[in-house]
Amino acid sequence: MIIPFNKPHLNGKELIHIVEAHKLKHLSGDGHFTRKCNEWLEHQTQCKKALLTHSCTAALEIAAILADIQPGDEIIMPSYTFVSTANAFVLRGGTPVFIDIRPDTLNIDEAKIEAAITKKTKAIVPMHYAGVSCEMDTIMDIAEKYKLVVIEDAAQGIMSDYKGKPLGSIGHLAGLSFHETKNIISGEGGALLINDENFIERAEIIREKGTNRSKFCRKEIDKYFWVDIGSSYLPSEITAAFLWGQIEEANLFTQHRLSIWDTYHEAFKVFEEKKILRRPVIQSNCVHNAHMYYIILPDEETRNNLMKFLEKEKGISSTFHYVPLHSTPMGKKVSPRTQELPITDDLSSRLLRLPFYYNLTSKEQSYIIESIKEFYGIAH
Ligand SMILES: *Cc1c(COP(=O)(O)O)cnc(C)c1O
Repeated sequence: MIIPFNKPHLNGKELIHIVEAHKLKHLSGDGHFTRKCNEWLEHQTQCKKALLTHSCTAALEIAAILADIQPGDEIIMPSYTFVSTANAFVLRGGTPVFIDIRPDTLNIDEAKIEAAITKKTKAIVPMHYAGVSCEMDTIMDIAEKYKLVVIEDAAQGIMSDYKGKPLGSIGHLAGLSFHETKNIISGEGGALLINDENFIERAEIIREKGTNRSKFCRKEIDKYFWVDIGSSYLPSEITAAFLWGQIEEANLFTQHRLSIWDTYHEAFKVFEEKKILRRPVIQSNCVHNAHMYYIILPDEETRNNLMKFLEKEKGISSTFHYVPLHSTPMGKKVSPRTQELPITDDLSSRLLRLPFYYNLTSKEQSYIIESIKEFYGIAH
């Protein structure tokens, strides 16, 4: 058996909507399907305004402009995250200030944020790892106290909640991703979610190359022109039509992913009791979306050996995750004064992500679990 790490799930509805988009002959951005996706996102997340983008990276870049990041400004974020979380701000001349993660959820440690705030701090960027929420109440309280902008990197967080609030609806701004490795996909794709209404008008301008074209399209003005900095951040209608096909089954996708997640979690309970690995922690105030399943091994060597065993002996692709940004060449260059981040260093070296996708069959999943048992010499 060969089991890949990820397989994008297509339900066939994407093609039907692409054919419709083809007939409508509006192929650039902000047509029928983009509007439908934006409306659904606004309804689903309860944000004030959703704007489809061509990626979460793009959404974070717009957010960095909206937060008015200037050279020298500091932005607090975890080191254990994807490069785009930091790049969006570095592109504006900002300095990422990396802080450690919580040992349980691997999310930014909210208890360490306040000590990292200086006069130059402009924003906090919590990233919801594996679609499990950061401790947002504490983060929002700190942001309010120091007048900071909170930008949620909710790339992995669609269909997840924190205390009943959808991820992406809590910070001032948020980015979602529909990259093919995420739960709901359009190949490349994303969205900017805006919860602070003061940002809406400028966000539309930045997303439309720095012009007021969105107002023109709504017939609020009779010609459009250059008013601000901006870039081309819109997805085409073909992409939006594809996404609409996925969105129609978002609940089904999530329910099914959760059942796969629960199967792994149940199977690894005995491993955790024997203290040979640790399972993900979901706090009781969070509802997650089963974005990924990872296990944390006792040490780096065991992690690497297990990964090798699964790949070489069993044909199963498992994988580690982020190389912490503070330890990368670019991270060292843009944020040279990073303090020690022992939990980030430790957990990133011991974490292993297991194959996780909608079409993972129960037979394949049993094979993965049995293979891990075999590695540990646990009787079947
Ligand atoms: C996937 C991901 C991104 C980037 O999303 P794109 O849509 O590929 O730009 C950013 N941050 C995190 C945490 C991600 O997982």
